[in-house]
Amino acid sequence: MSRIRVEGLTKRFGKVTAVDRVSLDIGHGDFLVLLGPSGCGKSTLLRMIAGLIEPSEGRVLLDERDVTFAPPRERDMAMVFQSYALYPHLTVERNIGFPLRSRRRPRAEIREKVREVAELLDLAELLGRRPRALSGGQRQRVAVGRALVRDPGAFLMDEPLSNLDAKLRTATRGQLRALHQRLGATIVYVTHDQVEAMTMATRVALLNGGRLEQIGPPTEIYDEPASTFVAGFLGSPPMNLLPARVESHSGRVRVLAPGVEVPLWTAGDFPARDIVVGVRPEHLVGVALTSQAPMFRGQVTAVENLGSEEVAQCAVGDAVLMARGPRPIGLRPGEPVAFDTSANHVHLFDRASGHRLLWQPPDDTAARSTPPSPTSGIPVIPRSPVDVGAPTT
Ligand code: ATP
Repeated sequence: MSRIRVEGLTKRFGKVTAVDRVSLDIGHGDFLVLLGPSGCGKSTLLRMIAGLIEPSEGRVLLDERDVTFAPPRERDMAMVFQSYALYPHLTVERNIGFPLRSRRRPRAEIREKVREVAELLDLAELLGRRPRALSGGQRQRVAVGRALVRDPGAFLMDEPLSNLDAKLRTATRGQLRALHQRLGATIVYVTHDQVEAMTMATRVALLNGGRLEQIGPPTEIYDEPASTFVAGFLGSPPMNLLPARVESHSGRVRVLAPGVEVPLWTAGDFPARDIVVGVRPEHLVGVALTSQAPMFRGQVTAVENLGSEEVAQCAVGDAVLMARGPRPIGLRPGEPVAFDTSANHVHLFDRASGHRLLWQPPDDTAARSTPPSPTSGIPVIPRSPVDVGAPTT
């Protein structure tokens, strides 16, 4: 399986910069998901890797070979699109075998290889059928089979599950994950569906307006979002983000906003600064209204039933706070409410840049490697998303 490196890749369409200086190192056996909202440049980036679009700047390297301007057929990558693009007049067997026939491989080899792939994808019983006699999920598997039969160096997939219904998507996600593990395949996979990213990826690259916002294992980008953009993109509902100030009085450091008072478990005196405080809906814990100093205090405005869970929407000062918990959540619209959370679930971001902030330990040399600690000295130093995600390594 191949290693793909992308260096400073940029694509401009007239005045639109679709992809802006993106660098990635996609290792052997990586399952990298390109995630982001509609129009953020995911498909353009994938198509540049595939050789379907020429970059305006930057390079694409395949196992150290510069393939930036090489045609797709010289890249040893197989692409699976959202539309399966199967040949309607050919059987499943001939659809899967097509890439080998067009390379004029011996007939016996084609038959053997197609059988092998069909077994792997649970299509052996369907080899004689035509695409119209298949379900959406089966067609999708045939499209994957056609990519697989070539033994490519890497698979490039552009929203391959988006035409499937919810149940089939879940089942096919599991199959793709199993396939990845079994083959150790290098996969670059485009989606705007965060559940697909979280469940399948070994690493997720989150794009925003053509730029790489953060790259890392799914749990890392969920637990340590590099910016308010990442925090507000992941999660359902996403992280609560409230404008606030961090202030110190007599060595006590607190995050303050109307209805918000979060102690920062640190000491020091410094000028107040504007920040955004973040806490995930599932990390809010209801506390008694008589509690001395709850971190968040407000009023419930609505409660939404999600089946096994409920989401309470609360007004906290001028902001809205979502709390998620098992049903019944025990909150009713119109009632006052108070929440706490734990220290490691409080996220701080610089108000102007949106970048994640970390507490700075007293020993500055340890600052880059030491997690926030209750005993640390001066709080809140800005870190850029590049520091957090290390996108180029
Ligand atoms: P989606 O999830 O909606 O498919 P995406 O993240 O894949 O979106 P791209 O299709 O890569 O986004 O598009 C990125 C930007 O580049 C968009 O603003 C889009 O309008 C623009 N764009 C893409 N292709 C072209 C083109 N051929 N000509 C002009 N602009 C384009």
